Amino acid sequence: MQKTRAIVATSDRTAEVQEKELRPLKPGEALLKMICCGVCHTDLHVKNADFGDVSGIVLGHEGIGEVVEIAEDVTSLKVGDRASVAWFFEGCGHCEYCTTGRETLCREVKNSGYTVDGGMSEYCIVTADYSVRVPEKLGSPEASSITCAGVTTYKAIKEAKLLPGEWILISGLGGLGNLALQYAKNVFNLKVIAVDINDGQLDFAKKHGADLLINPLNEDVAKVVQEKTGGAHAAVVTAVAKSAFNQSVDAIRAGGRVVAVGLPTESMDLSIPRLVLDGIIVVGSLVGTRQDLAEAFQAGAEGLVVPQCEVRPMEDINDIFEEMEEGTIRGRMVIDLRS
Ligand code: NAD
Ligand code: ZN
Ligand code: ZN
Repeated sequence: MQKTRAIVATSDRTAEVQEKELRPLKPGEALLKMICCGVCHTDLHVKNADFGDVSGIVLGHEGIGEVVEIAEDVTSLKVGDRASVAWFFEGCGHCEYCTTGRETLCREVKNSGYTVDGGMSEYCIVTADYSVRVPEKLGSPEASSITCAGVTTYKAIKEAKLLPGEWILISGLGGLGNLALQYAKNVFNLKVIAVDINDGQLDFAKKHGADLLINPLNEDVAKVVQEKTGGAHAAVVTAVAKSAFNQSVDAIRAGGRVVAVGLPTESMDLSIPRLVLDGIIVVGSLVGTRQDLAEAFQAGAEGLVVPQCEVRPMEDINDIFEEMEEGTIRGRMVIDLRS
């Protein structure tokens, strides 16, 4: 049996490079020789067992690989294509969610690097119809970043239901947030308020065109936003902190939406009078559909969104998790799976 080196979550809440066996393909599947895989904060949550113990699973859901083999019945991919290993690994294909454009909510869903082996591996088996092809003009590290951080924020901004020129507050300018900023500015033509507790992330956001920068450690977010913009029309919250959700609710205008994306394992406060009297809408948004990913890739291929990535060896995974916790990463760290 063929072997593959992979980054595996262990029961002592760390990540380890291990050798795993690769089974033969089943109908509908494709084998990807992986090129690279970005490290998302969700991998850190999974590794830390924030959503339950899944030790033994191969991490990674920002994977890009080259198709090297397909099962006989596969028509959606061909050998030589580059394709994704995304968090939305597979849905059932026939439930109320799968058939109404909400496939990521499928109750039978499989998730890469969480319920099935993910993309941080030299080889990865995917369900071909669920693996999205990467446009030729988009580099692999950039595509990897878009496979979760890009598509998630692109979709979250769609969920914000804004018109060009309106104000969006983006809370958390890390791996997801810096792409949220670029999609907001360059694809949706919005004005952006960037909010982060890390001045390094705010400088980075400024370089990418943020219109207003706020560090909640120095300023009252809601007060500044209400004074300078009359309240944001919507907020996309990627920050891994309850306080960021509460501040975002306070910073939007009546009728505004708070799109929740970050996954701190806490509850947020929501004043019922604020909700009812000001018609606030709070909505959760989970990654994006295959079509969302194809669109998010296309924006990358057209140069509208330029992910900032640094490529690192597999052995660096635990260092990368530490850097993520310390807040020293700008953009995304991407694991090189070809070295
Ligand atoms: P990241 O670590 O790269 O970025 C997080 C950012 O939040 C950092 O810049 C940090 O400084 C900032 N931050 C922390 N506390 C803050 C606060 N109180 N106010 C403002 N900013 C604050 O993480 P990431 O990879 O961008 O992921 C962010 C979150 O989104 C994680 O919880 C991840 O699991 C989640 N996520 C959700 C989805 C989804 O589909 N909903 C998809 C991918 C990731
Ligand atoms: Zn992710
Ligand atoms: Zn389904």
